[in-house]
Amino acid sequence: MYDSIVIGSGIAGATAARKLAQEGNRNVLVIEKRSHIGGNCYDRKDSHGVLIHEYGPHIFHTGIEKVFQFLSEFTDWYFFGHEVAANVSGKLIPVPFNLNTLHMVYDKEKADRLEKVLVSEYGEGSRIPIMELRKNENPEVKAIADYVYENIFLHYTMKQWGQTPEEISKEVTGRVPVVISHDNRYFGDKYQGMPREGYTYMFENMLNHPSITVWTDTDCREKLEFLPDKVLFQGQEFTGEVIYTGPIDELFDCVYGRLPYRSLDFQFEHFDQDSFQGRSVVNYTVSEDFTRITEFKYLTGQDVKGTTIVKEYPFAYTGALGEIPYYAILNEENQKLYKKYADKFANLSNVYLLGRLAEYKYYNIDAITERALDMAEHIIAGKQNGK
Ligand code: FAD
Ligand code: UDP
Repeated sequence: MYDSIVIGSGIAGATAARKLAQEGNRNVLVIEKRSHIGGNCYDRKDSHGVLIHEYGPHIFHTGIEKVFQFLSEFTDWYFFGHEVAANVSGKLIPVPFNLNTLHMVYDKEKADRLEKVLVSEYGEGSRIPIMELRKNENPEVKAIADYVYENIFLHYTMKQWGQTPEEISKEVTGRVPVVISHDNRYFGDKYQGMPREGYTYMFENMLNHPSITVWTDTDCREKLEFLPDKVLFQGQEFTGEVIYTGPIDELFDCVYGRLPYRSLDFQFEHFDQDSFQGRSVVNYTVSEDFTRITEFKYLTGQDVKGTTIVKEYPFAYTGALGEIPYYAILNEENQKLYKKYADKFANLSNVYLLGRLAEYKYYNIDAITERALDMAEHIIAGKQNGK
């Protein structure tokens, strides 16, 4: 009855399912364990009518044309240049640290001089990871790097990861480089904003196709079994493609131990006032136990009475009921453990691992959409699974 099965209805699963149905003429079953589609991009109105992101703030940003074109089939966009401020001892400064931030931190004469030094060392418009900037031997540049490290990265990273910036992957802190320009935007991408009617509406359109069936509230482990050389679906061998976008250790009862993740506790608060912080995101980089406060109406552009915010409290994922694994912890040891689980799929040529969880990677929405599109094209073209 089904040609392909996709497990998980996040951006990875929804993209692959749509492409396989629409361009691969396949009958696709999507199995989702939550009661809703959309994975961590899911949004909904709270009891006050404010559109919130249930699993933390998601800003779409991309420079990948193919991704933008694909998603634009399912939504219009509310474009804006996303800006973030850091609260450093009560003062708000732009993050990523840029030349505007420099002028807020130092007096004019010093900031003018330092700006020239930075531009001549790195060039206008360049983006330098903090761990690179710290290696600079010019004492004035080093002093800037120390300021940024101490006031933007150290405490925030300790909260988010329970580790120092030196201890975590460079790729992670490199996502928020020091920017040698007067551009306050958090991302440098050409397209940035929100699906105009929200993410859930976009996902509904993606999965609304006559050849796609969605089962929510269904854990795939109730329906599928991954044996060493075949997959069983409801007890029968299933030879069509199976795209898995959930955590891979859980498929095998974590026999080698759990893959470590950081999780988040989201604390939502509503206020009967027009505005709480007057902007979308404030990172608390030196104080508080939470990492950031998001005020949704400034992200979504929604014109609504009252306002809802969310504070994010990071903690180590344990796998306990109700906890959600959000961030893979990228290091060699965890990569080795991941590989032990991935090897269990070595003889399952019809099973594909896709997404933040199944690949144990730190993908943004656009990167995983591109990967899902490529994977579906590869499958449709009848190429062999790359293993
Ligand atoms: P998910 O969205 O996690 O989807 C996986 C789905 O699989 C889930 O719905 C899950 O319920 C389901 N599933 C798991 N196991 C099973 C099972 N056994 N049976 C059935 N279903 C199962 N990216 C951006 O580009 N911009 C942002 O601003 C941004 N902000 C973020 C903020 C936070 C707090 C976090 C954690 C991530 C953020 N991201 C952002 C990244 C973005 O969330 C991911 O790129 C994206 O959600 C990955 O999609 P996915 O489909 O791989 O995974
Ligand atoms: N980071 C930080 N201070 C900030 C912003 C980011 O220390 O104000 C570090 C932190 O380690 C974080 C990483 O940079 O986990 C990546 O930040 P990003 O905003 O990309 O994280 P995400 O939005 O994915 O949670």
